Amino acid sequence: MKNSFYTKFKNIIKFDEAGLRNIITSVPGAVFRCAADSNWTMEFISDGIEELTGYSPSDFINNKVRSFSSLIHPEDRKEVEEICMAAVAEKNIYNVYYRLQRQSGDYIWVHERGQGVFDENGSLLYLGGVIIDITEQKKVQREFNIQKAHFESLFTNNLDAIAYFDMNENIFNINASFTKLFGYELEEVKGKNINTVIDPFKYISDYMSPRILKGESLDWETVRYDKTGRPLNVLARGGPLKVDGKIVGGYMIYSDNTERYQANERLKQSERKLALKNKELEDFIYISSHDLRTPLVNIQGFSQRLEKLIQRLTEILDVCEVDGELKEEIAMITNEKIPKALQYIFASTDKMDTLIKSLLKISRIGKVEMDIQKIDMNQLIENIIRSIEFQLKETGSEILFEELPYCYGDKNLLNQLFSNIINNAIKYRSNNRKLIINIDGEVKKNTVIYRVKDNGRGIENRYLEKIWDVFYRIDPHNSVEGEGIGLSIVKNIVEKHYGNTWVESKADEGSIFYIELSRKEFTEWYYYGGQYNEFP
Ligand code: ADP
Repeated sequence: MKNSFYTKFKNIIKFDEAGLRNIITSVPGAVFRCAADSNWTMEFISDGIEELTGYSPSDFINNKVRSFSSLIHPEDRKEVEEICMAAVAEKNIYNVYYRLQRQSGDYIWVHERGQGVFDENGSLLYLGGVIIDITEQKKVQREFNIQKAHFESLFTNNLDAIAYFDMNENIFNINASFTKLFGYELEEVKGKNINTVIDPFKYISDYMSPRILKGESLDWETVRYDKTGRPLNVLARGGPLKVDGKIVGGYMIYSDNTERYQANERLKQSERKLALKNKELEDFIYISSHDLRTPLVNIQGFSQRLEKLIQRLTEILDVCEVDGELKEEIAMITNEKIPKALQYIFASTDKMDTLIKSLLKISRIGKVEMDIQKIDMNQLIENIIRSIEFQLKETGSEILFEELPYCYGDKNLLNQLFSNIINNAIKYRSNNRKLIINIDGEVKKNTVIYRVKDNGRGIENRYLEKIWDVFYRIDPHNSVEGEGIGLSIVKNIVEKHYGNTWVESKADEGSIFYIELSRKEFTEWYYYGGQYNEFP
């Protein structure tokens, strides 16, 4: 009976020994049994140690060639020993992580898990456990930690308020800037709906979180409320949070835009005030030019009458009996001095008439109510060319233009603007070459810049600013006729379109006039109810 039990038991052990060997060879890393001494003297260590360290297992048995502890990184040795011994004292399993030097000199990171084995009296027999290479894991972990540190520093130190929310739109994390901007601590808002936290009265209807949770990344300007209920103009950006390609929540970033918004509002107000002042000035010019015309017409009329009266006086004098010397003096006055004075008066009133008419022309532009529409610039230029065909032929000039982009504006005013510039190019052409005018257009973000380039006489640098002034002409005495208001009108029209105009030029080579206009529809300011308003 005893015998058969023993045989059975032996067989079980045998079977277990074979199984155990199998397990030991298939365990990743090395299985060991060692003494709890400072060398970790090995009684047994599996073949896996060769893969880990490059040394054969027999080297370590009884420290034959080297002790196991000699391979542990000197900085880690003490900690390993402390952790192991503390666990052994408590009869607990220990886990230690340390660097192990390979035969090549490199270190690998290992994880050792083991425990003390005790006899029935509780005395420690040996330590047993496994050692696994975790270098790859460590690398990945390190990468992860670096990324985490990057992310955390960005999140914590970001000047913008950041909030993360889950699939139910509930907040699970906010940063310090969120607390600063909205006044809430994390504990107060964790688990609460991101939207209602910063819009408690549900004033807003443009919550983006549902779209974000469907995968969209968005930015928009909106208003949110801080803890005290104060409205804040914020610039919001948001997007989904994905783990393994699956959306698990979203983030929102809010930048406080209140100051910029207010500055913008102030700027708009100043613009309105300025527009109002300009309008007043235009009205003033218009009214005064208008009123000046009445006395001017009177002066012109009475001067003509005076001229006629003098002629009559001369006729009367001819038939009068006046002594010779006196007659000569009177003749001198009536035939020469008075007509000459009258000529000055006529020249001055004519000049004044032109000036007043010019002023009226300019101020009328301010008064025009624009009909803003999409402008086919190709057609507009073609129309202008058709209207000046004769002039072009007579002067032997040519206008070339590429396919021109559209813009928005008032057709009549833009016609006048481009006519003025093209007419100037013809008026100020060079006598030395055939005039060629090139027109093209370049689309910018919301605008288009048209260029009208001529090869005319050009403008010296010092006049480039002045030419836009009312009545300014570079050479008022030359043979080219003009009133000096063509470019002022151009400037006025461009400003009325909230556009831009400037010129580049080289004397004797030619000029390029730039006109920047809107590619978007816009509304015009108009004067109504004692203030400047936008057309609805
Ligand atoms: P005006 O042509 O009646 O003199 P403008 O206001 O149209 O008035 O132009 C102002 C001045 O700018 C002109 O007198 C001329 O000297 C200069 N100028 C304008 N356009 C050109 C051009 N394309 N080439 C050379 N000079 C020019």
